[in-house]
Amino acid sequence: MAGYPHGKGRIRSSAQLTSAAIIVTMRVVVIGSGIVGAGAAYQLSRRGAAVTVVDGGYQGDATQAGAGIVCPWVDHPEDDDWYRLTREGARRYPGLVEELGEDIGYAKVGALLVAEDPADLEPVRSLLRRRRPGAPEMGEITDVSTPLELFPPLSDTLSAILVPGAARVDGRAVRDALLRAAVSMGAGVRTGVATLTPDGRVLLRCPENGGRPGAQDLAPENAAVAGETPAVAVGGTAHPLTAQDRTGGQGASWRQAAPSAPGSRVSATATASPTVAPGTTASATVAPGTAAAAAGEAVLLDADAVIVAAGAWAGEVCRPLGVELPVFPRRGQILHATLEGVDTAWWPIILPRMGPYLLGFPESRVVIGATVEDVGFAPRVTMGGLDEVIRAGLRVAPGLFNATVTETRVGLRPVYAPGPALIGPLTGRVVVATGLSAYGLTAGPFTGQIAAALALGETPPIDITPYAPNTR
Ligand SMILES: Cc1cc2nc3c(=O)[nH]c(=O)nc-3n(C[C@H](O)[C@H](O)[C@H](O)COP(=O)(O)OP(=O)(O)OC[C@H]3O[C@@H](n4cnc5c(N)ncnc54)[C@H](O)[C@@H]3O)c2cc1C
Repeated sequence: MAGYPHGKGRIRSSAQLTSAAIIVTMRVVVIGSGIVGAGAAYQLSRRGAAVTVVDGGYQGDATQAGAGIVCPWVDHPEDDDWYRLTREGARRYPGLVEELGEDIGYAKVGALLVAEDPADLEPVRSLLRRRRPGAPEMGEITDVSTPLELFPPLSDTLSAILVPGAARVDGRAVRDALLRAAVSMGAGVRTGVATLTPDGRVLLRCPENGGRPGAQDLAPENAAVAGETPAVAVGGTAHPLTAQDRTGGQGASWRQAAPSAPGSRVSATATASPTVAPGTTASATVAPGTAAAAAGEAVLLDADAVIVAAGAWAGEVCRPLGVELPVFPRRGQILHATLEGVDTAWWPIILPRMGPYLLGFPESRVVIGATVEDVGFAPRVTMGGLDEVIRAGLRVAPGLFNATVTETRVGLRPVYAPGPALIGPLTGRVVVATGLSAYGLTAGPFTGQIAAALALGETPPIDITPYAPNTR
């Protein structure tokens, strides 16, 4: 198949050989089935690669917790690289929705940027004006004199401007739809902890218990996925990860996604009493699952290329290659509430400059989030975290006072300390794709597409130099 790296891949079968063409199937293992890994698996499968997705089902994966805001134009005013990635990710959503042909919770509901003082809206208004010619999909920015008509629980003291092109999406639904589509084209999805060997091969250790429920069910009966070879266990060692750059490249974005101040109630509470995944010996600052991966037997997955889409755990996964990737987890706690009998499906996203965002989904659901905490691998919902979200949420939308709390979620945003996302080849065989921080539901499927292109030796759809591991 055109574009595959020379010397890689496996000839499909003699029946498929013709004098005109030799069809070669590239075998690719994707580590991580979050939105990035699922996006990569989908794109690889569309191109005819033999794909195996492996996931350890770690508690706190970011995709299941993500709020679902797709509104890239208001953030990263000084960071064109971040902006380009998120803008391109957002731009591709309508096409993806059409391709997948199923409901992934995507809807262009618009976003209301709100502030107590109307003067505070001016910087973002001029940013949007500057960006609109290059991103007409954001729609025409308008002042909204009666925001309560669009989002009834809102405080009546807020000024607002509307970004009509903003959308919301259901991260879990996107991930699952991408995986289902990949499986329907032959991909296999396996539950287990993957470890790399120093030369970039993948060892898979299947846990007795654990893993995302149902993931095994996604493996098709006769999938042309990567084969496996018994191997001795080769383990990585657990290591402490610390938050290295607490700004995480957020810049002066409209949404001030800075972590809670060190020593704040949320951080202190979470650090004082770490919870670790069952079966691990990890502490709050150690990647869960690592110790378990080091024990027990593993099978070697044959692959021509490997994509590491392991989110906040990517640094740990890549360590056996001899590289130190400063990827760390940034915790987000988020709350789901319902307003019985109220149609919230088309409510706009509420984006204050400081504090929590709110967005509506079908079935009377409102999502309020999220904390921003650098507390290591501690995917726990805390009293302090919920307190922060509820108080701030009610300040912006006091009309939610009687809403029913239906669910709390927590996820670990993968942050690459030096700046924007981390996407690129690490070795001739291994590609890494992570670091999407608070923007992974926006840019995740597109990042997966880039990673797939790199694994297949194709030219990626945008210049990836700014995200390459070896450029910073
Ligand atoms: C509270 C919250 C709100 C958010 N809101 C938004 C939003 O509104 N808009 C937006 O664009 N983004 C948002 N995000 C960010 C977005 O959710 C993330 O950037 C994105 O989900 C990251 O996806 P990922 O695939 O890189 O990582 P993950 O979803 O974390 O997936 C990584 C996967 O790798 C697996 N894994 C790790 N190590 C191994 C291993 N060794 N072997 C096998 N499997 C392994 C894990 O089990 C996990 O499933 C939010 C995040 C949070 C936490």
